[in-house]
Amino acid sequence: MQGDDWVIRIEQYHDWWFDNAVEFLGHLLERLGVDVVWDGGISFEPLNEDEVERLVEEIEQLIVFKLKYQTKEKKTDRIIEKNRAYLPTMHRGKYVSFLALKLNEKQKNSERSIGVRKEIIDDITDILSQENTNGTKICDICGHDANELFQVSQTTYPVVTGSLRSQCGVRKMESEYHCCALCAFLGSIEWLDDMPFACDHANLTHYLLFPKIEELEELHAFKNGLRGVLTTKPYSNVISIFESAQGEKKEIYAKDEYSLLLSLLEQMWYKIEEIEEYESVLCDRWIRLKIKGMEAKYQTKYSYLEEIHIPQIERFKKIFEELLPYSDFVSHSFASPLKEGASKEIIQRLTKEDQYLMSKGIIMDDFKTFSKAFQIRQNCRLSTPKDALDYLIYTWRCKDGTI
Ligand SMILES: [Zn+2]
Repeated sequence: MQGDDWVIRIEQYHDWWFDNAVEFLGHLLERLGVDVVWDGGISFEPLNEDEVERLVEEIEQLIVFKLKYQTKEKKTDRIIEKNRAYLPTMHRGKYVSFLALKLNEKQKNSERSIGVRKEIIDDITDILSQENTNGTKICDICGHDANELFQVSQTTYPVVTGSLRSQCGVRKMESEYHCCALCAFLGSIEWLDDMPFACDHANLTHYLLFPKIEELEELHAFKNGLRGVLTTKPYSNVISIFESAQGEKKEIYAKDEYSLLLSLLEQMWYKIEEIEEYESVLCDRWIRLKIKGMEAKYQTKYSYLEEIHIPQIERFKKIFEELLPYSDFVSHSFASPLKEGASKEIIQRLTKEDQYLMSKGIIMDDFKTFSKAFQIRQNCRLSTPKDALDYLIYTWRCKDGTI
């Protein structure tokens, strides 16, 4: 039996995905009014039945709110609901984690909903009270003992190699990993976290950014700042507003990871000015998760991981005082043909490439990469707003004797 001073403790994993997931669980608990202690993990008093029920409700609402969006069908003009494409909807559209599998089942069979719901609440009560952790099996992710293991899919950990042997290649010895219920739960809910994302629809490519902050309490403080900046739109949650000379407002969003990051930093700059804590809300290390979808809807998606380390992030303060490089400059630059005959596809592709090169150059403080966007390719040159270019070059390269 557990004593009165029994406290639940979930250690941090020192892994970008699971640390963000532990932080997210702590955030959800705080929203329910639970006291969470942040110290190399999260600690809280065991939840009562009502708290678990409200946690499940919260997760269910987020599944609908975050993982689906409404759009107009082109042919019929009907409003239809779609799954966000970055979600690993593998294996004939079933979310393979035990959590979402049950939630889906619940949605499909409403008459069974009470029973299924009870089961979910019981499962989550067990997971969070860390019952059933004295088994003889060992979790491949956290290494703790467990009496039941679940197969690790991309839903639990997005960069895990597929469970299909044919996709595992020669470098992998094992085709399957298994994890405990806590890891499966944390991995699944991380998809509902507040992460900057953008999607390049033409290439079915999705970019998600995760802050890489070792200290969990610091990660929590940073993400709370981030949460105030993100919005919800179908193709990205980082949106800049462009106002034309005619006063027409247009939403713009990035289509590559560096533009997304640049646009995010700019949005945070606005917020930071408000809260005057510029230094504490900056993060210079990010994990970029790129997910490449496939035309056929329910096929395994490919995921790629990259760490982005921004050199001398303080220099952005100087740049942002003069202009917002993504909103005022990169997003208004495009490839324009020198002679007739360039197809729309070529112009669109080169525009995206140029925007990527410019954003990457600015983020990585790499003028060589930035200048590649200005090279004439396939009979197209780069058109940019001249005043903004002058301002940018001055604040980035010339001011304070950079050059
Ligand atoms: Zn585990």
